[in-house]
Amino acid sequence: MVRATTTDIEKTVQDVTKNVFIRPPEVQKRYLNTPKPHWISSEGKIICHQPYKKYLRTDIADILARFGVNDPYLEERELIAQVFPFKINEHTLSLIDWNNFLTDPVAQLIFPQPGMLAESEIDQLRQLKHAKVSREIFAKAISEIRQTKNPAPANQSANRPTIEEGEDVEVVDGIQHKYSKTMLMFHKNAQTCHAYCTYCFRFNQFVGKDPFLEDDAQRMLKYVKQHPEITDILMTGGDPATMATEKWKECLLPLLEPEYNHIKTIRMGTKALTYYPYRFLTAADADELIDLFKLMTQKGKHISIMAHFSHYNEMGTICLEATKRLRQAGCVIRTQAPLMKHINNAGEVWAEMWQQQVSNGLIPYYMFVARDTGPQKYFEVTLAEALTIYQTARKELSGLGHTARGPSMSCSPGKVCVIGRETISNEDVFVLKFLQGRNADWTDRVFFAKYCNQATWIDQLKPAFGDQKFFFEDELKQIIS
Ligand code: SF4
Repeated sequence: MVRATTTDIEKTVQDVTKNVFIRPPEVQKRYLNTPKPHWISSEGKIICHQPYKKYLRTDIADILARFGVNDPYLEERELIAQVFPFKINEHTLSLIDWNNFLTDPVAQLIFPQPGMLAESEIDQLRQLKHAKVSREIFAKAISEIRQTKNPAPANQSANRPTIEEGEDVEVVDGIQHKYSKTMLMFHKNAQTCHAYCTYCFRFNQFVGKDPFLEDDAQRMLKYVKQHPEITDILMTGGDPATMATEKWKECLLPLLEPEYNHIKTIRMGTKALTYYPYRFLTAADADELIDLFKLMTQKGKHISIMAHFSHYNEMGTICLEATKRLRQAGCVIRTQAPLMKHINNAGEVWAEMWQQQVSNGLIPYYMFVARDTGPQKYFEVTLAEALTIYQTARKELSGLGHTARGPSMSCSPGKVCVIGRETISNEDVFVLKFLQGRNADWTDRVFFAKYCNQATWIDQLKPAFGDQKFFFEDELKQIIS
């Protein structure tokens, strides 16, 4: 094998840069507006481009009719979709087993379900609808219901940092900096997804109720420059894969300058591999995005795709082609998902999903616990069940499938994982561990809570061994205030 020299790599980088980033405007425009007609898979199979076509709440009845579903809950679904936004697209429709629509995991993942609101809430909306009240009255009722669903969990507004210049202190809305090494960027152009998950905790963002967005890269770059402790930038959303490659370039290319040498990793939190894998294959600016990632990796930045997969049914041929292409560009794909009743609350589902991921070169990374937000009641699984499901899945896999951490709660103190149940000094306890802490010193600290087979979130747990509070509580209050 002939090894590439540093000069070769530099030359390639220059070629890529020239090819990708310095096109005459008229060529660039044509390039960006033209999707590729098809993609030829590694096995020589032709995958035709599918233009992105979305469907919203008012299309639910037509979709169900098209696939021959006689749905007993149509009205409920349409009402619930007023509270939790609904969006699906042609590709995602193809992942559903329409003969089993009521129980299909992908249908549960995207279509509103009757149990997602309380009976009384659905009745209230039904009555308002039948009374034909004004749009304002209906919108007010919806907004009030949303407010009861904890739309900003885990004290997210406490994670917004400031930029200090002399006496001036500016709060940076579109950034969160909770853990010292990692900064999250919420770009204004990434505030949507190719489809919406029913369990999404970002439902306020999708209806324009979240003001915490960043509309250009400049303040993010300024903040990063002032914080040499940051090594990782997590581009999040919505789904940043929905953002045009032009915007990606504005964020990433400056990071190649020496003053950003402390930035080692760029993470992209995305579900586009499932919801619209054409984004990485045939979409108009797919090649440009792949070239950008290649350039970044050749220049020494690690690109980690934080891919959201809820069920192995999402991992079809087109999805896997997209994963291959990203990996060939030098990206590493790590996978994560919440554990949700009706979708993936069985050890066998996780075992199969993680095995398929390992077989295809993806790295299982996280199993999350359903957050205390949105339709949590419909999807929640107790911590005791979550632990059993996690342990069952791991038993089915070789060590390579044991890379996923979980079941983990992304809560106000940090990422807290339930690592076991033990009897210590005659007390039945959960063993908990900080994977990340709001205070970095909490990382990896183990602590104990009384075992409880009903608890679904950390705030329902009580300290074990007669303690009045968990070790971090006082300090957490101080940090947040
Ligand atoms: S892909 Fe992520 S951000 Fe988008 S709807 Fe699903 S959970 Fe929410």
